[in-house]
Amino acid sequence: MTAVHPAPVQVTASAPAHIDDLLADLQLERAGLPGRGPVPAAERARQAADELAELGLSRFVAELLGESAPVPAPRAVLDLETDDEGRRASYETWCAEARELTGEVWRWLTERRRAAGASRDLDELPWWCGESAFPLPRDSVRRLAAATAPVPDLSETAEAWARSAGLRGRATAEYNWRWLLLGKGLRVKGPAGSSGGEPPPALPPLNELITRLVGEARRHGLLPPGHRVRVLRRPNTPSMVMPVRLPGSSLLSLPTAVTPVTVQYLQHELAHLAEHASRPAGAPPADRWTFDPLRSEGWALLLEQLAGSTAFLARLGVDEETAAVLARFLAEEEHFSRGLMAADLALDADLAGCRTAAEALEAASAVAAGTGLRWAPELLLLRQTRVLHWRSYVAGYAWRDTVRTELVARFGDHWAEREEAWALLRDALGRTGPVAGSAAGFLTALTASSAPAPLGRPESQEPYASRVHEHEEAGSR
Ligand SMILES: [Zn+2]
Repeated sequence: MTAVHPAPVQVTASAPAHIDDLLADLQLERAGLPGRGPVPAAERARQAADELAELGLSRFVAELLGESAPVPAPRAVLDLETDDEGRRASYETWCAEARELTGEVWRWLTERRRAAGASRDLDELPWWCGESAFPLPRDSVRRLAAATAPVPDLSETAEAWARSAGLRGRATAEYNWRWLLLGKGLRVKGPAGSSGGEPPPALPPLNELITRLVGEARRHGLLPPGHRVRVLRRPNTPSMVMPVRLPGSSLLSLPTAVTPVTVQYLQHELAHLAEHASRPAGAPPADRWTFDPLRSEGWALLLEQLAGSTAFLARLGVDEETAAVLARFLAEEEHFSRGLMAADLALDADLAGCRTAAEALEAASAVAAGTGLRWAPELLLLRQTRVLHWRSYVAGYAWRDTVRTELVARFGDHWAEREEAWALLRDALGRTGPVAGSAAGFLTALTASSAPAPLGRPESQEPYASRVHEHEEAGSR
């Protein structure tokens, strides 16, 4: 198997320290944090242009500098934590901004599609591959391109959630969907420390959740103590993890509120953290910074799924009754999210036949109608800028199921309690390169080894409550 993009760059085995420093500063600056070097990273990148090209990092650095076509995105943050009226107002601002971006989004998409069409003679790259700074493994591109799912009617789920939240008549109103998706309306008791007069806590507060989940990850050897993690609290922004120095450090950005999906989202991000942390320090820099989105998301979905088990939730200190409610909700949430992503993929296919922004909005309306949610077409169209991400999820669910089937076949239904299973997963995860570091390479590693490979990475000495990695609060915004 060969990489998709033709440009094979002769890379050296390791990068000089100043290149690692530069990449770290570029990542920090992109996250809105100051870099550590005295000279601005952009200037250092210009000075090191030849070296970066030699290391196969030019395109990646251009992306970090925002020099590749910037992705249209609203500046407003959807405020989910105000009262009903405040939420409605916030949603309307957000929607209005999305509406204003329609033309820009359409131009961005058209440009990408045109560029992909022009390169068709060389290879068969779908338009969304243009988003990648590094070549995607061919097998993964094939799986991502083939990803498809029927668009389900989600109105019943939305209405059931709304009923339990007491939203009744406005059950499917657009401004509620994200709120409901986060499980804000779910009848579980709030986190400890929430305002007085509320029932006793059933969901642990965020710090405690992080500590316990990190403890779980550490117990399985997924987070080597040397990997530093800086936690950012950003209200109403999706949880995400950004690599800073690989291996070495990552940023973990989290919303401030604890909702029923927080456990799952945290677990998902810890999976990405583990992937960052397990990059081999000696690998060529381009390999260290290349992530196959199918493998990354599939792996995160595998780990995230563990959070849906009542036994796992119990270990986090969630009581039995709440754990049962949560587990049911998380299963519904997966169905709902997969439905939304099926709509994204359906729209991607329909947009191929559209010639104007107006036609694109019409196509989005038609797809939105299929979901049974009164979803603003502008918002659906806006999500197209991240279609590689949605494809990675849709294909990632299937990949995850294959991995899980293999794990169950080898270690039984309770594979997650077997150290040998985790050793095998760590070994597969630590592989890099266009073949071994791909989703297909992961499966090969899993199925090929007849006995779990010895890893030389010792099991954590302090399984629980160990906080060797850095928990650093930075300014939230
Ligand atoms: Zn992810």
